[in-house]
Amino acid sequence: MEVVKPVKRNVLLNPGPATTTDTVKYAQVIPDICPREQEFVDIMTEVRKELVNVVHGDPEKYTAVIFTGSGTIIQDVCVNSLVPENKKMCVVNNGAYSARMVEIAENYGIPCVNLEFPTTGLPDLEVVKKTLAEDNDIAVVATVHHETGTGVLNPVREIGKIAHDNGCVFVVDTISTYGLRPIRIEEENIDFLMSSAQKGLAAMTGASWTVGKIEEIKKSKNYPKRSYYCNLYMQYDFFERIGEMHFTPPVQTIYALRQAIKEYRAEGEQARWERLSKCWEAIHRGLGEIGLESVIDKEIQGRLVVTVKAPDDERFDFSKLHDYCYERGFTIYPGKMFGLKTFRLCNLGQITYKDIEDFFVVAKEAFQEMGYTIPINA
Ligand SMILES: *Cc1c(COP(=O)(O)O)cnc(C)c1O
Repeated sequence: MEVVKPVKRNVLLNPGPATTTDTVKYAQVIPDICPREQEFVDIMTEVRKELVNVVHGDPEKYTAVIFTGSGTIIQDVCVNSLVPENKKMCVVNNGAYSARMVEIAENYGIPCVNLEFPTTGLPDLEVVKKTLAEDNDIAVVATVHHETGTGVLNPVREIGKIAHDNGCVFVVDTISTYGLRPIRIEEENIDFLMSSAQKGLAAMTGASWTVGKIEEIKKSKNYPKRSYYCNLYMQYDFFERIGEMHFTPPVQTIYALRQAIKEYRAEGEQARWERLSKCWEAIHRGLGEIGLESVIDKEIQGRLVVTVKAPDDERFDFSKLHDYCYERGFTIYPGKMFGLKTFRLCNLGQITYKDIEDFFVVAKEAFQEMGYTIPINA
């Protein structure tokens, strides 16, 4: 892949979109093509196959169904399409992204048992077990693999086991782990997972997909059609019969996604995970040097997001910190935790531990600009 001209590189430490390679950026520059052409249908077919492959899905059992939109569209699709008539969904909710699935269910008028747990810890599996055992109307259990709002990694394999023991379909938002942490879909007891191009695969915003059980998609044909554009079965059926999306696909985004998958393959699942783990270690090292702490216990973090406790004094100003870093090519992000002053550092994209070390040089300067000496509590 030829890069015509390098683009200014920004290190994105926000929770997606992620830093991309120039080769992925330039993969979007292609001759105009009508997506109904066989050439594009072939690309779609190849990309769908690869998306199942990334999570080691058996192609006899699992398929990928892509939609045009940001990550939330695939939450919308899974929630509105997979709950049978007169049945309920149960959300194991310990963060902002599971809360979003509850909101989606409420918007469609789908009965939803919202099992809320503290956002700083893991869900209580005994409560999940008891709830599913006592309520036979629950047909779908949904949760988030890695709560991007906090950095907590949820025990999906265990939740999936409980869901299956109770005859429920298990749906997992893996938007901030897919293509980052190795996932084996069947071993994790996942029937449907979700992902989005601008996160783990470090491609462009505009394409999101589920990798799901073919058998369950076929069953959903007879479930209530709560959305026209976002119905899973309708999109699946179009892909299977015609080989393409029902409506106009995000053409250039798909080319970038195809390139990003190639780069994922070239790097290798394990090598990518090690690179990102090193970034995460470097974040903790840098925070330690400044004298800052993470809100979430290290043992339950997914190694992709660190929620940082902001200093509790009047010198700290998030927007000053943000602007100082932003002007020097590093983007950081506010926290998403109720009632706590926090900010987040995320290591999702095409970055290395060296970028993190460079970031902390700049971050330390920013703290000094705000009037601190480093370490800040000394
Ligand atoms: C980013 C993200 C989403 C989707 O957010 P969009 O803004 O719609 O892209 C959903 N779930 C998780 C866990 C995420 O990290």
